[in-house]
Amino acid sequence: MSDTKFAQQGMSFRESVEHMVDHAIDIMELEEGIGNALKVCQSVVQVSFPIDIEGKIEMFTGWRATHSDHRLPSKGGIRFAMMVDQDEVEALAALMTYKCAIVDVPFGGSKGGLVIDPRKYTAKQLEAITRRFARELINKGYLSPATNVPAPDMGTGPREMGWMVDTYRQMFPNDINYMGALTGKPVEHGGVRGRNEATGRGVQYALRELFRHPEEIKRCGLSGSLSGKRVVVQGLGNVGYHAAHFLQTEDGCLITAIIERDGALINEDGLDVQSVREYITETGGVKGYPHAEYREDGSKVLAFACDILIPAALEGVITTENAPRIQAPLIAEAANGPITFEADKILRERGVEILPDAYCNAGGVVVSYFEWIRNLNHVRFGRLDKRFHEARGQHIIQAIEESTGHKVPDHLADELARGADEFDLVRSGLDDTMRLALQEIIRTRNENPKVNDYRMAAYVIAIEKVARHYRDIGV
Ligand code: GLU
Repeated sequence: MSDTKFAQQGMSFRESVEHMVDHAIDIMELEEGIGNALKVCQSVVQVSFPIDIEGKIEMFTGWRATHSDHRLPSKGGIRFAMMVDQDEVEALAALMTYKCAIVDVPFGGSKGGLVIDPRKYTAKQLEAITRRFARELINKGYLSPATNVPAPDMGTGPREMGWMVDTYRQMFPNDINYMGALTGKPVEHGGVRGRNEATGRGVQYALRELFRHPEEIKRCGLSGSLSGKRVVVQGLGNVGYHAAHFLQTEDGCLITAIIERDGALINEDGLDVQSVREYITETGGVKGYPHAEYREDGSKVLAFACDILIPAALEGVITTENAPRIQAPLIAEAANGPITFEADKILRERGVEILPDAYCNAGGVVVSYFEWIRNLNHVRFGRLDKRFHEARGQHIIQAIEESTGHKVPDHLADELARGADEFDLVRSGLDDTMRLALQEIIRTRNENPKVNDYRMAAYVIAIEKVARHYRDIGV
């Protein structure tokens, strides 16, 4: 078992997710049959294939699991990492089902993974491996715009999605919707603006919404707004970087520590996320970064005093071993499964509030949904109406100025006369989705005496939606 943290605690990642689902099913007093149907992955495929790497044949193994296809397509990322195994892929596929249901994205749940350390290969070699993996998945019926649509995850990004969609297009040139076979593509190849930042942006919107509810913030033992809150972030990859960067530059949070693979940086006055990111890109790690204290044992920094802890790296990083020492009163799970089932229990008993992964990091799949719609519509968001709204804004300004005899101040006029472009619309759709979902989670928690935390509230909402579908349509 590769996910050692979970295995050491006697429970795999899949079992950990299953336990959380079991708990929700108990609370809901759901009929046993539907509960059981929800817990298993509907299908999983394993593929192994050879690739010639500098004259030597190397074998690669990967999986794609579909947890549910009650709504199609089934959706979820593909990760490239050494720790990937079937158990992990199945657990992550189940999380995708719940995630989509929580944020009202009309998709089933799926996930894929390939055992590979992408840093060991050149771009050309990676392209050959990625294209071959895509072919295998297509041939087995696990990649198509109608039934199963992958996206980036750990170790993959727009580049890999571009290679995969091109592979699909070559195999099915007559499929007019071929662009919808993958999401998270480069913008020049059918991607949507705002997808790359989406998961981190979603974490920011989730926290902003929480801070609009003073009672909930009080429950966390916090007060006031996001401004000035001390935040510790683990992992400065795509999700952690965007979340930390937006929270710092747009909400006035202080990023007091960043934990990375090779250690942690601490600065109680706040770190400049952008400059840390550039330093990592240049040097490969955080060690030696000039404007902070460096600690080699990053895992200890997870327990540092702060207002908000954002684990944005791997699953299983908060365990029974470190949960008793975590000092943050609020944890926003930007990664999938960063807290084990037993650690979750300890944290809850200690009164730590947790925005769960299935809600908190759903921004990626929300914007994937927008990208898929854009691909099926074959038109960029805002293309038809941007200028129309600009003209309408001009008319409003003119009407105000003519009827009052006063000039509308420039900063208001600029805003009024601006039509929304694709970025604006994607962000607005994501913001709305994250707000509504958290409002429902808070309502469910407050209305149900058996629901004592946000994770359970989120699972209850998700399971209720999926179960309703099974009941209405038949299993
Ligand atoms: N890999 C991301 C996740 O875990 C995105 C999935 C998607 O966009 O389909 O949520």
